[in-house]
Amino acid sequence: MFSASETDVRINKTRHMQDTRSEFDDLKKMNAELMEASKLLVRKDLELSRANDRLRELNRTKSEFISVAAHQLRTPLSAIRWVFNLLLEEERGNLTENQVALLRRGYESNQRMVDLVNGLLTVSRIESGKFKYQFEAMRIEDVIRQSLVEFEGQSKDRQVAIVFRKPKEPAPEVLIDKEKMRDVLQNLLSNAMKYTRPGGSVTINVSQKNPAEVEIAVKDTGIGIPSDQQKRIFERFFRAQNAVRLEPDGSGLGLYIVHKIVRKHGGRVWFESVEGEGTTFLIALPTAKRNQ
Ligand code: ADP
Repeated sequence: MFSASETDVRINKTRHMQDTRSEFDDLKKMNAELMEASKLLVRKDLELSRANDRLRELNRTKSEFISVAAHQLRTPLSAIRWVFNLLLEEERGNLTENQVALLRRGYESNQRMVDLVNGLLTVSRIESGKFKYQFEAMRIEDVIRQSLVEFEGQSKDRQVAIVFRKPKEPAPEVLIDKEKMRDVLQNLLSNAMKYTRPGGSVTINVSQKNPAEVEIAVKDTGIGIPSDQQKRIFERFFRAQNAVRLEPDGSGLGLYIVHKIVRKHGGRVWFESVEGEGTTFLIALPTAKRNQ
């Protein structure tokens, strides 16, 4: 015989054991579910990394294809340029004004194709990691001066003045790949000229805004960039609508390449623009001292 309180204790114990068993069962169930979920995660992870490998492989094949196609196109394009040159330089006396004008247009179209093919080759080199850099310390003013020489003819033909404002004190040296930085400047200058109407101007400014950086600004009084299209300007192949209207020919590759090159120098590139008023592209490059 048990007393009433002993019976209570037994009932409580039995309840407690039942509770513990059901908690244990719940835990077992949860554990099994967790095991299942983690197996699923491992499977998904494997599938994702396989898909990633496949995408990488496809990307590599695409870059290789572009590179081979661009190389193949270069040879016939050079031959065509040679023929146009020959006719324009040596046979010119035998041609009418009309024929010369037609040949000039052919020469310019061919040149645009050469530029496009070169742009594609550069992009495919950048994306496959084959774009090699050789850095040396130098003054950016020297590179700008050399680049500007190539725009003297264009400045006269297009009636767009070019002004180079050097800093009062020479800016500190920057660590750059000279050829690549020349490409950057040529791209910015050629855009500034291309998108500025006759009578406008392009001003290049070099300054030191802080001890660690040299800043280069290329400012034009051109068509500007519409505000709703500004955020896409460094994307591959992107061209704003007003630019396409003014200059139907263009690849939209220049600024993408500029951005990649400047970033490789540890620098920054950005712009300020008002449609119909003008655009300023700015580049900040770390000084050679900061890089050492
Ligand atoms: P492209 O000049 O061949 O179109 P870019 O990559 O050099 O290619 O430039 C991309 C776009 O950025 C241009 O099509 C144009 O819309 C805009 N852009 C670049 N520079 C200027 C500029 N100085 N003024 C106005 N728009 C510009």
